[in-house]
Amino acid sequence: MQQLSFEAISVDTIKMPLYEPAETEVSVLRLDKIHAVISGNKWFKLRFYVQEALDLGRQTIVTFGGAYSNHIVATAAASQLHGLRSAGIIRGEEPAALSPTLQAALQYGMRLYFVSRDEYSRKQIPAQLTGDSYYLVNEGGYGKLGASGAATIADHYKGQDFTHVCCAVGTGTMMAGLINASLLSQTITGISVMKNNTELEPAVNTLIKPQHPAFNIVHDYHFGGYAKHKPELIRFMNMFYMGTGIPSDFVYTAKLFYAINDLLKNKFFPIGSKILIIHSGGLQGNMSLSKGTLIF
Ligand SMILES: *Cc1c(COP(=O)(O)O)cnc(C)c1O
Repeated sequence: MQQLSFEAISVDTIKMPLYEPAETEVSVLRLDKIHAVISGNKWFKLRFYVQEALDLGRQTIVTFGGAYSNHIVATAAASQLHGLRSAGIIRGEEPAALSPTLQAALQYGMRLYFVSRDEYSRKQIPAQLTGDSYYLVNEGGYGKLGASGAATIADHYKGQDFTHVCCAVGTGTMMAGLINASLLSQTITGISVMKNNTELEPAVNTLIKPQHPAFNIVHDYHFGGYAKHKPELIRFMNMFYMGTGIPSDFVYTAKLFYAINDLLKNKFFPIGSKILIIHSGGLQGNMSLSKGTLIF
């Protein structure tokens, strides 16, 4: 397996392609550069779960995800890297042809168990995956240990005086970690990639310290819902790449970059803000788009 290269992580100052506000600086933390398949934030969210599984002497990590899940492939890779087995409970019937994501997970040694959407939504664990040798990680790595792992993302930009840290939000685990790792003077802005997910605020609140910096979750940039997209988003991705050289994924980071660009235009951030956008990886998810959709 290709090694993970944490030394490749950089903070790049960019010009937003559609709107460049005066006296506001925008930078991107490039977690997408860690590995081609194991996306940025998933590795961070998993690290302490993997550690706990090892400490408890468990042999197999079990988790949930869909056919294009960044979390599934990252769990497979992280397990293999630490000498653990992995099992993925996958939403929906087994397809005739596996998605590139699931093929990669298989290559990292994950066993796949396809369950009906109904069983999946009840988070039912197949009987053969229960017992003392299994270690369960929630869907998307949601939980306290996931947030603790995500908090270590901040090690890669500590000491730089950003006023705002912005990230995409799925389960809210990464955002909670960033909130816990930030200074009280900073503001954390999350862009939800789901439609009307009112459970997010409580999900984040459960994982954060009593004393925490201000945060807000913006719900206006879902483009139709989770993993949904529109031509406008795809156009933006290509334009953003042309302007900055930074690739994005249509499920998470494209919605994030689009949103920040739009929020800047609408003067959401005070003049003089120093904004850090977390590029949380996820580029492998673009493999579900038809060829030629993206220029990168
Ligand atoms: C999973 C994921 C997120 C969301 O992380 P949560 O901790 O679930 O909110 C953001 N960006 C990318 C690329 C992801 O894969």
